[in-house]
Amino acid sequence: MKSMRCPYCGYEETRVLDTRPTLEGRSIRRRRECAHCGRRFTTFETIEALPLVVIKQDGSREPFDKEKIIRGLMRASVKRPVSLETMQAIADLIEREARGAGLSEIPSTEIGEAVLKHLLSVDEVAYVRFASVYRQFSDVHGFMKELEGLLKRQSEQSGKN
Ligand SMILES: [Zn+2]
Repeated sequence: MKSMRCPYCGYEETRVLDTRPTLEGRSIRRRRECAHCGRRFTTFETIEALPLVVIKQDGSREPFDKEKIIRGLMRASVKRPVSLETMQAIADLIEREARGAGLSEIPSTEIGEAVLKHLLSVDEVAYVRFASVYRQFSDVHGFMKELEGLLKRQSEQSGKN
């Protein structure tokens, strides 16, 4: 991934002032400011080439990794009727949602919540397993609360039918 160097002084660190999609939607236009000389310039970046960075809970960053989402889904879906295709589709959807929103950084908590949102409609057992690992319930109460919420949603849904 090439960095967005300042065209004036060549400095590598730039600050994004503004991000907006171009009309055709395949690229975005960014207004950047050089962290060194302070001059401003515009870049056009294709959506595929944009780095998507995950902000972890300890504040550190790592590249967005779809495989990691799929591995998490696989662990949660052991012996459950969730196909690899479905897991890939969920991971794809999360990446598309993040990129579609024009994000370059996404908190890991948001990814976890997005996985849960999609997993809930796929398999409830996998959902609860993923929630228990991902949310790292420190006690059984947190886990029970999650389960209660799930059961409540279920009964609300069946009440509609
Ligand atoms: Zn500069």
